[in-house]
This record gives sequence, C-alpha cells and structure tokens, in this order.
Amino acid sequence: ESICRPTGQIEDASCDYETVETINSQFFDRLNTLRKTDFFKFYKVNLFKECPFWNENSFCMNRACSVETEDESDVPEEFRVKRLSSVTTASPDDVLMTGSDASCSCSSTEFCHLDDESSEEGVYVDLLKNPERFTGYAGPSANRVWKSIYEENCFNGVKFVEPARPTSSGGTGFVDKSMLQSSSPAFNGLSGGFGGLVSSLQAPLDSGDSEQCLEKRVFYRIISGLHASISIHICHDFLDTKTGEWAPNLECFITRIAEHPERLQNVYFDYVLLLRALSRLGDSSQNFSLRAGDSIEDPSAVAQLDQLINDARACPTTFDEAQMFSGQNRESLELKQEFRQHFRNISTIMDCVGCDKCRLWGKLQVHGIGTALKLLFNRNEREAVGEVKLQKSELVALVNAAHRIAESLRAVERFRDMYQEERAIG
Ligand code: FAD
Repeated sequence: ESICRPTGQIEDASCDYETVETINSQFFDRLNTLRKTDFFKFYKVNLFKECPFWNENSFCMNRACSVETEDESDVPEEFRVKRLSSVTTASPDDVLMTGSDASCSCSSTEFCHLDDESSEEGVYVDLLKNPERFTGYAGPSANRVWKSIYEENCFNGVKFVEPARPTSSGGTGFVDKSMLQSSSPAFNGLSGGFGGLVSSLQAPLDSGDSEQCLEKRVFYRIISGLHASISIHICHDFLDTKTGEWAPNLECFITRIAEHPERLQNVYFDYVLLLRALSRLGDSSQNFSLRAGDSIEDPSAVAQLDQLINDARACPTTFDEAQMFSGQNRESLELKQEFRQHFRNISTIMDCVGCDKCRLWGKLQVHGIGTALKLLFNRNEREAVGEVKLQKSELVALVNAAHRIAESLRAVERFRDMYQEERAIG
C-alpha cells in the first residue's frame, strides 16, 4: 500500500505506469551517470535577457537563487560552444519569422527561441554545482510566470485549464492532509491506482464542453508535467528554514502533487515523451548529427550516450507521435505551426523568471523538451529535410531534462516510502 502508485494506462501515451517504473529503475542510473560527464554537465545559457512581456524587477535576493557560473577559461576547450555552431543552418523550407516572432534568430521549425550562443551575455554553468531545489522563489512573480505559461495553452481562443479538484476526498483516492495521521481508506485508495479517477478528471476542460483534440491535451500535459516535476524537486530538496537543513518535505509533496493525481500523471507523460525522443536519436545510421563545429570528443561520453539511446530503443514504444498532426491537410499543418509558436513563446517567458537558479533550470528544461519535440515532429515532413541536426546545447538540455523527470519519479518513490514510515509510526 502506498500513495501515488498509479496503475494502468497513462493517458495519451502508448504504455502504462508499470512499464515506466520498470524502465526507470535502470534508465535513471544511466542518465545519472551520463549527465555527470563533462560534455553534459556544462551548459551555456543567457540568464540576463530582459523579460519582453513585463517589467520583471522582483529579483530573488535569496542566496539559494544565485547561480555559480564558470569562467570561460575554466571550461575545457572541447566543451565550449564553438562560435561556428551557433550559426543557424536554415533548411530550404525555413520561413523567416514575422510579427511577434520577428526578433527570433531561429527558423519557423524550431520549438524554442534559442539563446544566441555567441552572445557575450551567455555564461557557462556547471549544472552539478547548481542543483534544482527549493529556492524560496514564490509569490506574484512566480505566479505570473506560471499563469502566462498556461495562457499559452490557448489554441483558437479555447483555453485548457487544470481540472477542478473534487470537493470530497472520500473514495476518490485524493489525499487529504488530515489523513496523514489516520489510516483512512480514502488515503489508501490511491494504492489501487487512480486511472479511473484521472480519466474522470480529464473531461473537457474549457468553458464549453467540446472534446479537446490530442495535440492540445498533449501541450497541456507537457507544461503541467514540467510544473509538477519542478514542484517535486522543490519538495524533495527542501530547506527547513528553522533548522537550516535540506530534507524531503512530505507535506509539501502531498499538497502540491499527491492531492492532484493528474499532475503526477503528467510527469509520467513527460517521461514517455522524452524517452521516445531519446530513442529517436538512434534513427539514422549515424544516430543523429550535431551541427558543424559541435562534437562529443570524450569517448566515454559517446559510449554512454550510445548505450542510453540503445536502451531507449529497446523499450516498448512509450509514445506514438505519428498520431499527432497526422491529417494530411492544411489544418493539421497550421495546428503544428501553432503548437510550435506557443511552445516558443514559453521558452521566451522563461526570461521573465525572477530567480536565476529557477530561470536556469526553467530554460534548460523547456529547451530540452523543445528539442524532444523537434526530434519527434520535425522529421518526415515537408518543412524539414533529412535528419534533425542538433546543437550541442540542445543535446545537453535534452539529456538533462530527461534526467530531471526521471529523478522526479525516483523522488516519488522516496515519498511513498516516507509516507509508509509515517503511517507505521502512527
Ligand atoms: P505554483 O507552483 O506557483 O502554482 C501556481 C498555480 O498553478 C497553483 O495554485 C495551481 O493552481 C496551478 N498548478 C500547480 N501545479 C500545477 C500542475 N502541475 N499542473 C497544472 N496546474 C498546476 N521554486 C523553487 O523553489 N525552486 C525552483 O527551482 C523553481 N523553479 C521554478 C521555475 C519556473 C519556470 C517557475 C515559473 C517557478 C519556479 N519556482 C521554483 C517557483 C515554484 O514553481 C512555485 O511557483 C513556488 O514554489 C510557489 O508555489 P505555489 O504553491 O504558489 O504554486
């Protein structure tokens, strides 16, 4: 018996929760070793871009918000971003941005506004020295950013919002904080799986009652899963301000995640999406290609990455991207463009996060998920030719974003155990 052990099919994915848990028991370790190699631990990022949407001046003054950066001269030459690689190699079908996207240095087939890697403002960060954790960033600034992100989830004027929480916890499997002290059957109910509950929550969510199409549901799941994963890390690496100690905070996890099973489902959803994208890195004969000027020199990192890709390919199919944007018509193509544009906007909203550490991880994860989307959706279609070429930073972001989500699932296991221990103590 335990909390947050969902069972059954993950909605809009091609596999079930149990499969993901089995895969992660091995895959997490692979990702964890890979992300510690020098190639994957250095990330170049611009943390000083101005927020283009509003005046963001509530900079987080907490020490926990600061990012330790590296002097470029301390980053081994082979891991530096080569100037050459930052030149966008446009495909013949790329369309120049117009309108609100006019300042974009990327092509219309990108899912993210990529930082200009040759910019003087970019800094090198050793990700291992800057773990994603509780920083204390909260309040109007953080809320505004999340609100704007969810507003991007509005296609054709129809907004997809988080389902309302049932008011009664009895029999629903929802966790009620007061139940922490009891052995209430409602709390235990989660152990039996909440697939039914979740599907009942995934009813049409906009103000009308029309069914949302797969693409729009997927968009929502991606951002809600990312949000939930960040919350899990906050709760797992939490600072007790009274004792000054960092430790997992079960109550934080219960309030932010366990009481909202659909959020947890969306973390699993992000996992299957990223895993599928990693498997697609191995599609071409030379796996994938990095842009001119970028290469992985470290043979051990290359071997580990190959192993990771092979493992991902050996997994049962976790997500079937062919179901999305599948119509051979103009509407389908337009929907894909819209999907990309909304995701690109989210990557820009990251420049409005008023805490450097949160901004770093927010940018990296959106960049990583954007790379996954590019791998899944930019092939075999008219507007992209041949295989997908990645910049070094895209590959680094993809692997680290996958690691974040995989670590979240690990943290959920830990919270399940903590809950059991608390119950055993009574
Ligand atoms: P929030 O997490 O701010 O949520 C706001 C509202 O969104 C909730 O009230 C709820 O209605 C809805 N919501 C919450 N979760 C979901 C979900 N999964 N799906 C759908 N709807 C949801 N803080 C840190 O301490 N460390 C970090 O590394 C960090 N990184 C951040 C990165 C980004 C990009 C942003 C925008 C914020 C980050 N924060 C970080 C702040 C953190 O995410 C919260 O905003 C903060 O802890 C305040 O939490 P809250 O309880 O007010 O709710």
